[in-house]
Amino acid sequence: TDPRAAARPPHVPADLPRLLRHHVGGEDVDSLDGATFEVLDPVTGETYLHAAAGQAADVDRAVAAARHAFEDGPWPRMLPRERSRVLHRVADLVEQRDARLAELESFDSGLPITQALGQARRAAENFRFFADLVVAQRDDAYKVPGRQLNYVNRKPVGVAGLITPWNTPFMLESWKLGPALATGNTVVLKPAEFTPLSASLWAGIFAEAGVPTGVFNLVHGLGEEAGDALVRHPGVPLISFTGESRTGQVIFANAAPHLKGLSMELGGKSPAVVFADADLDAAIDATIFGVFSLNGERCTAGSRILVQREVYDEFVERYAAQARRVVVGPPHDPATEVGALVHPEHVAKVLRYIEIGRTEGRLVAGGGPPEGLAGSSYVAPTVFADVAPDARIFQEEIFGPVVAITPFDTDAEALALANGVRYGLAAYLWTTDLRRAHTFAQSVEAGMVWLNSNNVRDLRTPFGGVKASGLGHEGGYRSIDFYTHQQAVHVTL
Ligand code: NAD
Repeated sequence: TDPRAAARPPHVPADLPRLLRHHVGGEDVDSLDGATFEVLDPVTGETYLHAAAGQAADVDRAVAAARHAFEDGPWPRMLPRERSRVLHRVADLVEQRDARLAELESFDSGLPITQALGQARRAAENFRFFADLVVAQRDDAYKVPGRQLNYVNRKPVGVAGLITPWNTPFMLESWKLGPALATGNTVVLKPAEFTPLSASLWAGIFAEAGVPTGVFNLVHGLGEEAGDALVRHPGVPLISFTGESRTGQVIFANAAPHLKGLSMELGGKSPAVVFADADLDAAIDATIFGVFSLNGERCTAGSRILVQREVYDEFVERYAAQARRVVVGPPHDPATEVGALVHPEHVAKVLRYIEIGRTEGRLVAGGGPPEGLAGSSYVAPTVFADVAPDARIFQEEIFGPVVAITPFDTDAEALALANGVRYGLAAYLWTTDLRRAHTFAQSVEAGMVWLNSNNVRDLRTPFGGVKASGLGHEGGYRSIDFYTHQQAVHVTL
């Protein structure tokens, strides 16, 4: 941590907009009632721009534009190859603008600039991946010899409602926009209100790439207003949501009267399990990265580390020492590894958990803002050891640079600890015993398991959680399935 660097006046990107507007039917528009909300700079906590605050009437207008583009426009009727070409151009443009995108994202969210750049590239890759996938798409056809030919018609669903969180905003938007658009839907995106800046770039990118007018629509606003109106809108047959489990429950209930298609990517409290036979150097590096990268504001963060007793003391000591070496600093500084937390409300939440942690575990690193930065939105990587499984910091998602370490003796105990929370998003296992690794992976309640590896995604594999971490899986053809209807056609021969 370099308090002097973090205390310097914040970097402000050139040509920042003062006001973000909705994008509806190819036009940037204000809210019909003129309402706006404030967007804060994470470093200073001060308002740096206003964004239009969408209400039900604004969502209505956006859905009408999307419906018009779906019913009368070319997009759903284009050949997959034609849509694919356009979406590859989107990816090209995102790549060409990655530096600017990263600069804006880092400024708006507090993410370290190098990591924001990585996320911009992932956004481009998401478009390329789904652009390729729809071209390679094949659907079932069956023959009952001499009697029937049966095949599948795949059709876009209509207007897809996309609701996204504030962590890695642009990348997570692309994870929904890519497959929704590749399959021929039109969309209304409601980005997170803490971080609306990078979403304002989509309209220009889509227009330049040749996405027809009205296919992409964006409504800014608060979750309880714009998000809620989108969820309840009868003209939106499906909602893809990423965010907190609690919000997912509310959306589930509000979508129920309309029987909407729902995809829910929710919270996590993922375990990293380190057995005594693990490669400790690799395990320490990966578990440091696993919870402190992206400021710890990461759904798949390995925020509980379970360590076998034989190596527990050594692990805790080395882990704490390495956590203290993580560089906390200004988001735009390329040396920064943990930047500013996204919003004063979130800073307060993370600090509250750290205070709770002091009564629940042994603090071995961090414990609040770095020295000399009291009252800032910087939080030093914070490590609690000896955390009991009923502790709140073991059970609840903190979503910041805070980790709980807990010892275990046997495989059975490790499994019970790993599964003993309401979440089930990811799990990370460190062992050199192959049989143990695969047996544990089979039993752990997690949508995704990484064995002796960092959190690197393969976009063809399922992404999603079990228990309170989500409903449904996206990734590869599963995303295509979510955004399409499959109609069976039976032909008598
Ligand atoms: P959040 O649930 O507060 O908000 C997410 C989005 O939902 C925002 O756009 C918000 O405006 C909107 N929203 C809020 N209330 C709504 C309502 N009643 N109706 C409709 N929309 C509403 O989540 P967040 O704080 O922005 O994001 C952090 C959470 O997201 C964490 O729990 C994290 O684990 C989770 N997350 C999950 C994944 C995953 O893939 N599983 C990925 C990233 C983040």
